[in-house]
Amino acid sequence: MHTVKTRFAPSPTGLIHLGNARTALFSALLAKHFQGTFLLRIEDTDLERSKEEYTLALEHDLCWMQCRWNEGPDIGGEYGPYWQSEREAIYNRYYKKLEELGRAYACFCSEEQLNISRKVQRIAGQAPRYAGTCRHLSESERQQKLAAGLKPVLRFQVDDGAVIEFEDLVKGKQKFLASDIGDFIIRRADGAPTFMFCNAIDDAFMHVTHVLRGEDHLTNTPRQLMILQALSLEAPIYGHISLILGSDGAPLSKRTGSKSIRELEELGWLSDSVLNYLARLGHYYVDNDFMSFQQLAEKFAINNLSSSSAKYDPQQMLYWQKTGVAQLSNDAFWHWISSDDQFSPDIIPAALRDTFIQAVKPNVIFPKDAWHWANIFFANDWLVNPAQEESLQTTNPNFFNTALAAADTHGADLVAVVNAIKENLGVKGKQLFMPLRIALTGEEHGPELALIGQLLGAEKIKQRLNDATLLLK
Ligand code: GLU
Repeated sequence: MHTVKTRFAPSPTGLIHLGNARTALFSALLAKHFQGTFLLRIEDTDLERSKEEYTLALEHDLCWMQCRWNEGPDIGGEYGPYWQSEREAIYNRYYKKLEELGRAYACFCSEEQLNISRKVQRIAGQAPRYAGTCRHLSESERQQKLAAGLKPVLRFQVDDGAVIEFEDLVKGKQKFLASDIGDFIIRRADGAPTFMFCNAIDDAFMHVTHVLRGEDHLTNTPRQLMILQALSLEAPIYGHISLILGSDGAPLSKRTGSKSIRELEELGWLSDSVLNYLARLGHYYVDNDFMSFQQLAEKFAINNLSSSSAKYDPQQMLYWQKTGVAQLSNDAFWHWISSDDQFSPDIIPAALRDTFIQAVKPNVIFPKDAWHWANIFFANDWLVNPAQEESLQTTNPNFFNTALAAADTHGADLVAVVNAIKENLGVKGKQLFMPLRIALTGEEHGPELALIGQLLGAEKIKQRLNDATLLLK
């Protein structure tokens, strides 16, 4: 086998979302697994919709996902340029060759004629396909139409009797009849190449060995194989990945939670967490360990790609985020929460930074959660809401006075304070912890009390317990 070469070939018409991010990830993991090459090609033939800002954005997002390419627009490579808009000369060479081989011809049929032809086919119970009207135009008929100013498209002429069979890496054996497909367009009337054509030419020209892409492209593959075969170009092996479905069973959309990679990054998702989730969406890993990109690649296996659709599960993605946060070193955690520019790290005294991290890490999913806690401890930005005030009314009437007396004796040692309340009042469980946590933090759950004590210090503890006495009616 050649060295494995995979590619990601996005059209820069928007931000990358979970679906195409997964396609990029699988392609990058497959290349890495075999120490092969991963290339990035920008499919910008739709000049109107393609924008440079999207190319820059997707390059940034792929880097964030650790899917760095070895050949591509910014770094070049042997088979560039890596923007399709700059590869016209290459496509023209192959158009010419197909025409010389008698496998491509100019078609002048108008949209109106095509519509009528399709209607007739439908009425006759046939699947609509191009009827081959312009296949047999004579040279003089062609010249006449050109002289009349008609702009033809270029069609690929299928071999009517051909059967196209291939083994899809994910979907298994596939079989299509050329006669069902009909002659299809490979160059538009304005001279622009169609996706079908340039995508196939580029994969062959760039020596891509494995194409992983969405199953929505499955029916394009027989067309692309016919083009490559006619040109005696080596075709890659294709694998069509099943779609990601939203909770409503339809393809994942914005409405059902699809997010762009950019949004995830801005919300503070960890790259490793997103990778651990996506790599398991339609691909099976034997173990459930949190893995680095390198480990995900080592254990990536084509045979573990699922042929049935994968369901997007936000809870599962959160699980990987929590797992990712738990793995962060203190420095990495600090760096991560500091990346949220809405908050100032200065409110946390340097001497308490490690204690703060130790306290909040198990309670944090996104950087904003860490800042929520920082404000509670250091900015006095906390509040007992009406529902909490209500639930405090069931507290033992002597609770806060007992707690205050204990705090006088034990200072910031909240474990000792808890024990004193327990001994003196005989309360335990929720009756013990809920009022204390609400009084000290405005939250019913959160970091370990011992650490909360260290972060607040004796003075603040007493002040908050004192304030809480006023809440009991
Ligand atoms: N530009 C195509 C797309 O974004 C690429 C499809 C393929 O991977 O072959 O859908």
